[in-house]
Amino acid sequence: MTPPLPRLHGLPLDAQGRLLLGGQPLSHWAEVLGQTPFYLYDRACIAERVAALRAALPAGWQLHYAVKANPMPALVQCLAGLVDGLDVASAGELRTALDTGMAPGHVSFAGPGKREAELRQAAAAGIVVNVESERELHALAAAAQALGRRPPVALRINPDFEMKGAAARMGGGPRPFGVDAEQAPALLAAMRTLPLEFVGFHLYFGSQNLQAEGLAQSQRQALALAERLAPHAPGPVRLLNLGGGLGIPYFPGERPLDLAALSAAMHALAAPLAAAFPQAVPVLELGRYLVGEAGVYVCRVIDRKVSRGQVFLVTDGGLHHHLAASGNLGQVLRRNYPVVLAERAAPGPDEATEVASVVGPLCTGLDLLGDRLRLPPARLGDLVAVLASGAYGASASPNRFLGHPPPLEALV
Ligand SMILES: *Cc1c(COP(=O)(O)O)cnc(C)c1O
Repeated sequence: MTPPLPRLHGLPLDAQGRLLLGGQPLSHWAEVLGQTPFYLYDRACIAERVAALRAALPAGWQLHYAVKANPMPALVQCLAGLVDGLDVASAGELRTALDTGMAPGHVSFAGPGKREAELRQAAAAGIVVNVESERELHALAAAAQALGRRPPVALRINPDFEMKGAAARMGGGPRPFGVDAEQAPALLAAMRTLPLEFVGFHLYFGSQNLQAEGLAQSQRQALALAERLAPHAPGPVRLLNLGGGLGIPYFPGERPLDLAALSAAMHALAAPLAAAFPQAVPVLELGRYLVGEAGVYVCRVIDRKVSRGQVFLVTDGGLHHHLAASGNLGQVLRRNYPVVLAERAAPGPDEATEVASVVGPLCTGLDLLGDRLRLPPARLGDLVAVLASGAYGASASPNRFLGHPPPLEALV
């Protein structure tokens, strides 16, 4: 058997140090697509990640994909064949999800400001709405009444605790997401008289967590909170969404999540959960963990300048395509994303390197993809790859800023 290829942020490298997606170097895909910049996503890598996660889950636990991480239709279609459900956060994402053929009962809708029209579409489609306010509850009930339907509803709870280790917290303290745990009993009581089918609870606390123990603790707390609220519910809990938040390493010094440790903790939780909620299907909803490392953003060096001793590689891509890599999507201190030369991604210790900054074509100092990186000396025409770019890339960037064309996206 040939030994497995070495990997860089989840993607394989060949013997020449070229990144491989779909088994081919990025120069191949640049020719196939006929242009740079582009995002490229690797299906095999996504399938592998889903399989690893499924192997880590206790029997009967389900896995959902959060479409907002990457809503590219072909990629969502690919995920739809691998996971148990899709989570959407707008009517637009709802259409993408339904286009895949996923059964409506396996699609759920979260987000703090669902409009009446969106709630009505959700009720008509028969998807599960994660209700996040009293207004949403009554607007959904009115839509259900008008349509003569009884749509499934989960109550999204803003817990009375925070997730430890999450880079982005979305629960605990005052939040626009969900209803405070203290307010939940009143809403659950109100549901009894409305044409809504209570199915369970949605508990989503945070994102980008690399600590297994922080994630495990939040799941234990989620179960305890659901147990406290269940006596107020108008029916049995059949769906218990424990959230997600599994992170991927982006920055120097970050270590991948210890999935084995999280798996052990989830297995320990499985029996008490089943005892408390014998009818409930536990669900994890994940975005970036499933697709983040399966994607790269690729641009080309179009100029090379030396300014007062500092090398700048000017590329045809930038923050208008990849806001997160530029550090402008919610970082406190700017840190470098993993940025490499696509065909010389792993220079050996004897290979020549230089310090260079990778910038885009936008006339703003914010357009910095890599600040003083150590790279092999780059030539005009070389491909630059930003790794770990499969989530919160193309759709989370200000594509119209400065009027350059949008990036292509391809799934291989
Ligand atoms: C954003 C979001 C997710 C996905 O978060 P990731 O960090 O990409 O895993 C899942 N559920 C909800 C409710 C979200 O808002």
